[in-house]
Amino acid sequence: MTRPTRLKGIAASIGVAVGPARVIGRERRRLSCRRIEDTSVSSELARFEQAVAKSRAEIEAAKQELTQQHGTTYAPILDVYLLMHGDALLIDAISEAIRNDKINAEWALSRVAERLKKPLLEDASSYFRERARDIDHVKEHLLRQLCGEQRSELAADGPTVLIAHDLTPADAVHMLAPPTVGLVTEKGAGSSHTAIVARTFGVPTVVGVGPLPIEIEDGEVVLVDGFSGDVTVGASPEERRAAETRRDRFTAFLKAERSTSAVTRDGVSISVRANVELPSEVEAALENGAEGIGLYRTEFMCLDRREPPSEDEQLDVYRRVVTAMAPKQVVFRTFDWRGDKRLRAHDLGERERTWLKSQIKAVLRASGEGSVALMFPMVATVEELRGAQSLVDECRGELKDESAKLAQLPVGMMVEVPSAALLAERFVEHADFFAVGTNDLAHYTLAFDRRDSRSAAQPLDPAVLTLLERAITAASNANKPCSMCGDMAADPVALGLALGLGYRQISVPVSVVPLARAVIRNVDLQAAAEVARDALECSSADAVRRLVVDRLGKHLGALWKEQGIV
Ligand code: PEP
Ligand code: MG
Repeated sequence: MTRPTRLKGIAASIGVAVGPARVIGRERRRLSCRRIEDTSVSSELARFEQAVAKSRAEIEAAKQELTQQHGTTYAPILDVYLLMHGDALLIDAISEAIRNDKINAEWALSRVAERLKKPLLEDASSYFRERARDIDHVKEHLLRQLCGEQRSELAADGPTVLIAHDLTPADAVHMLAPPTVGLVTEKGAGSSHTAIVARTFGVPTVVGVGPLPIEIEDGEVVLVDGFSGDVTVGASPEERRAAETRRDRFTAFLKAERSTSAVTRDGVSISVRANVELPSEVEAALENGAEGIGLYRTEFMCLDRREPPSEDEQLDVYRRVVTAMAPKQVVFRTFDWRGDKRLRAHDLGERERTWLKSQIKAVLRASGEGSVALMFPMVATVEELRGAQSLVDECRGELKDESAKLAQLPVGMMVEVPSAALLAERFVEHADFFAVGTNDLAHYTLAFDRRDSRSAAQPLDPAVLTLLERAITAASNANKPCSMCGDMAADPVALGLALGLGYRQISVPVSVVPLARAVIRNVDLQAAAEVARDALECSSADAVRRLVVDRLGKHLGALWKEQGIV
């Protein structure tokens, strides 16, 4: 067995963890699939119903645990799974399969789950693939009950780095509480609920490392780098000491950075806001000193549903978020489902039009509680943008509440499709603001799959930088705000370049807010602008990264090094 073993995955929660491995779920449960007699159908149905009830109770308990530790704000993460336990498409379909096909509950569960997942997995959007993972998580809970496994068998009994095939969010709540210090999973994505729970608990996490080498033993020392996605199993004592030093320094750094300012070396203030997926993240955004919510990904409210929540349900959530953040601004993005379900305002079917209108109305009604803005994702033509704005006007006209009718609501757009960046000066005439999404912009410019772990480097490609420059120049000339809310702004090396291109507002994942401020304080804008000019002349993303590291390293080097970024 060679050691150390190095694995690479997706960095899902920042920080460094060092600890003994605890491998869970190594013996994959083998599904026993069998046919049942007519006479056994009712007892099999009863067995399945019991499993649903127990599984629901387990998730309720996890919800309570979460509430006790973190208050009510985080608990709704688990509501999705509770709702799925009552979902006709899933639960009723399983009972039907037991009844009609005369098969045992495990088989019926597996069959229905696979059928429901198929179209979701075929969709290009990570949103839908995440929903397939939610189905897997519910399946995992139910299977555990059917097999009579106890949750307590999963509990960690000392400081450990958990290593798992995957972890359901409810299990994550249970298992990521202290003394667990880190998490590594074979599967998973940075936007998954499990990743959100890991960030909530501040547990450094790497997901999606792929099939784990079989020989990882419990107790072997594992290093988890939640910045780079690197995992080392069986590290040498020197590597271990170095990682422990980085871990301790980062913890101290985070504490010290919570209330610092984001002013560059040459005295320019940069606005650092937070990207949020769930209301539960608002508290942490405030704690980390975010100056607002620059991107609220509302589609996360629809995780468990085939239809979005009603206008009033949405209003309730939006109001809570806006009130908690007031007087800081919250920018709500309309549902971004991508793929064929994309809610483009100009070519909607009647049903989707109704959904979008109830969302716009809820945002208009919530805007009285504080400072609110609305933006549309994936806008590709000026016609679409104008269609979206007409829809906002139509919604205003239909509202009964006079103050909501007249609400101050800037309406902007994401610049994340190349056509929008190319013609930015035409779009900007019709938009109150731009929010640049570097994730999709790089994806569509370079035909690079967002799921590919190498895609993190792509915003630095000179072709993407050229589009980023067009967007910020058009907005600045028109005197309209233009923020960067894609993950380029969250990359501590690329951020200097974004500032050099002229961006003065950024929005980053909640956990990155303090780090972004620290980077900003070490940037000299004039030097960054020169680097940006030269970067536009480079021929590859790698060359750009080298250029930034060489030229901004004078001031940022120590911070990057300390955080293990370069
Ligand atoms: C982006 O595309 O950069 C973006 C911020 O939107 P999302 O990641 O939600 O697609
Ligand atoms: Mg996007």
